[in-house]
Amino acid sequence: MDICKFCDKECKNLSSHVRAAHQMDMEAYNEMSIEDFNALQENFKEKEIEETKVIDDTDSKYFTNRKLSDILKQYKLTEDELINVIKNYKFGDSIPIAQQQKIGTERNEVVAESLSIKDAVETTELGVAELLTKYYGFKVIDVTTKGGTMPKIWVLHKRKV
Ligand SMILES: [Zn+2]
Repeated sequence: MDICKFCDKECKNLSSHVRAAHQMDMEAYNEMSIEDFNALQENFKEKEIEETKVIDDTDSKYFTNRKLSDILKQYKLTEDELINVIKNYKFGDSIPIAQQQKIGTERNEVVAESLSIKDAVETTELGVAELLTKYYGFKVIDVTTKGGTMPKIWVLHKRKV
């Protein structure tokens, strides 16, 4: 039995232990003193700590340096609305109707704008149909419930200018 001079482990096959546990061949093992080895280990630990610190810094920068007011502006929210969303997420509280409608309205605006490039549109959203007639020069041609199914479908055509 050999004893590894680095970690005092008894080894049937020292060279394979050294290769597996310390990632070096016997030539390097024989050349390296225990002091060299310890210094190497210390270096390695310090490097690990530094790397961890860098990651933590990045994270905390991301979260602390952004102003809440900027985030609210980005997502077009008031502080109360954000709190409602957080309560909904964390405690399952329902989001007030007015806020739900606002979310719905904003989504309708996006949908209406994207549909407005067409000449003929079908939509199941009354809100989208309203926006198309109000702002994009569409006219309701038909309101159908195909095969008696809900929801209704609004058929709109763009007015000729
Ligand atoms: Zn060892």
